Formats: sequence, C-alpha cells, structure tokens
Amino acid sequence: MTEDDERWMRLALEVARAKGSDPSTSPLGCVIVRDGQVLAAERNQTHELPDATAHAEMMAIRRACEELGDMELRGATLYSTLQPCGMCTMASIWSKVGRVVYGAEGADVHPMYFEAHGVDTLAFVTHAYRDDITIEGGCLRQECAELYYGPDADLPQDEQANL
Ligand SMILES: [Zn+2]
Repeated sequence: MTEDDERWMRLALEVARAKGSDPSTSPLGCVIVRDGQVLAAERNQTHELPDATAHAEMMAIRRACEELGDMELRGATLYSTLQPCGMCTMASIWSKVGRVVYGAEGADVHPMYFEAHGVDTLAFVTHAYRDDITIEGGCLRQECAELYYGPDADLPQDEQANL
C-alpha cells in the first residue's frame, strides 16, 4: 500500500459520502485509476436507478470502459471503500483491472452488506483464469469501516437488507 493508494482511497471515501453517509444506504465509493488518472469515480446507485447490479464497482467499471472505449482496463487499479462482493469481484476479473484495493473488509462491517456469508471472495481472484490480477485490503480501513454498520450492530430487521 502506498501514499498514492491512500490518496485514491480518500477520493473513494468522498464519493461514498457524496449523497450522505447513512449506513443503511450502503454508501460505497469506487474509483478506477490508471497512470495517475481517474477513469471513473462512482457510488452505488441501486435504489436510484433502480438496478440491483448498480454497485459502486459495477458502475465504475462501466464508466471507465465507456471513457476508454475499451472493455479491458489493463493496468488500472480499482479502489473500493468496502471489500467487493462476489459480483463485483468477478466483474473486476472480467474487466482485466490489474489490481483491486479495498478499505474495510467483510469482518469489519455488518453481514447485511454481503450477499453470502462464509464465502471467500478473495479466493475468486486466487483461482481466477487470470494470474495478472491482485487484491489487497486494509487501505484506510478504519475510516472506510466507519461508513457502515459495525459487525455486531443490532439492526431492526427492515434495515438488514440481505438477512
Ligand atoms: Zn458489489
């Protein structure tokens, strides 16, 4: 993890907070950067669109590909404030980004933010058909974790989106 990584993660945090930081709205921010240039900076927009696949990472991958006119994002780094879910981890693999960096990890937040429990999405990368992609977590971990409900938060049932 470098100073540049922290700088881009701070931007992802800003994007996550852009529409408020109510943890019940799953404020995730994602920034895709290549050669020091931001290709996309997106927040999750599942409710606004509405589109169940409009996670921050999916939106950012779409924008970056549009921006470049290319379906491959080789050499780019994807920053996400929270460990990407299974869908977004797979989308990262398909998009050909070279590196995924996330802030808080699954264990730092409430299970409501993940589609499945006990699934190791890091293994998706380990076992991917590509060997030119890496994934690392813990960049500004504490600041990122503060965006979300904590692991043991006692939430009303109707706020527990995925439980
Ligand atoms: Zn996702």
